[in-house]
Amino acid sequence: MKILGYDYKIEFDNLWDKKQGASGSCCANILTITLDPTFPAPRMEESLLHEIFEAIKFHLNYGERFPHEMLSQLSEVLYQVMKDNPEYFSFRVPGESETSKE
Ligand SMILES: [Zn+2]
Repeated sequence: MKILGYDYKIEFDNLWDKKQGASGSCCANILTITLDPTFPAPRMEESLLHEIFEAIKFHLNYGERFPHEMLSQLSEVLYQVMKDNPEYFSFRVPGESETSKE
């Protein structure tokens, strides 16, 4: 997935034990977004949006000017708008088999 020109790898891994219930994580240093496939699809989809915002925050150096609470609200709200307007947006988290090409 391209984010601001960076080629991010989307990985699937069980994050439950590692990050206390987080359904996704973003490591911009190694250009990797990890999603927990044990979460229901809507949670994974919102998570992907959330982690995209995390990557944008990192690459644009927003730091504390973009508080995490606001980031979470934005991804929830944008996700809701996208899901409520399927005639304008389609949303799909690829399966593991589609992303593990290497
Ligand atoms: Zn976050």
